[in-house]
Amino acid sequence: MAQRKPIVAGNWKMNGSIELVSEISTAISKYKNEQVDVIIFPPAPLLCKAVESGVNVGTQTISEFDSGAFTGEIEAKLAKQLGANYTLVGHSERRAIFGETSEIVADKFAKAQEKGLIPVLCVGETEKQRELGATEKVVAEQINAVISKLGIAALSNSVLAYEPVWAIGTGKTATPEQAQSVHKFIRDMLSTQSEPVAQSLQILYGGSVNDKNSKSLFTQPDIDGGLIGGASLKADAFVSICNSA
Ligand code: PGA
Repeated sequence: MAQRKPIVAGNWKMNGSIELVSEISTAISKYKNEQVDVIIFPPAPLLCKAVESGVNVGTQTISEFDSGAFTGEIEAKLAKQLGANYTLVGHSERRAIFGETSEIVADKFAKAQEKGLIPVLCVGETEKQRELGATEKVVAEQINAVISKLGIAALSNSVLAYEPVWAIGTGKTATPEQAQSVHKFIRDMLSTQSEPVAQSLQILYGGSVNDKNSKSLFTQPDIDGGLIGGASLKADAFVSICNSA
């Protein structure tokens, strides 16, 4: 089996401050060149500060368009020039609150790669979809929107994050078994198209990960780290999560 380097990513959402950038960057500076890649996704106005602080940085979203009359949007090319290396695409809050369809998410994924950013594709089912037994179908559709636009090979330069919507910000973490089962489903599904892509793709789990539950999630065979929201805003908790990867 391919060796996959774990990633611990902090999604600050619309939280944080200049002070928090200094605090977190100091706390995680020891992870440079370590066995885990630590990435911070701060709100866009803090991007430059975060890059200056020396942490590995990504944006929380990017525009699917090139420069032009798109007030308020984040241009992938500029984000890259400013020092971002990654971008989230398709976070459930973007899908639910800002109406991003899987097709738009696929366009953003394509734009990120075109401009040299590594997309972190977020997928996951709602509580209702899980109750209906549609988890695998929903996740497969969200991933297939990217594959049908760009081909399976595009996934080799990306990261995936499985984030059940019902677990995000709710304190209701998926059990390690529930998460592993979806991660394995994703890897098996990809392996029917490309075994090397399936084996090398890092698949992160997100949804109420904290310093108490991270270890049991990250030790699952198909979970390669986490995308952390609330707990990434507290230096101590975030460092413990990084240590558990
Ligand atoms: P949470 O958020 O850790 O606060 O549940 C995760 C996310 O939305 O990426």
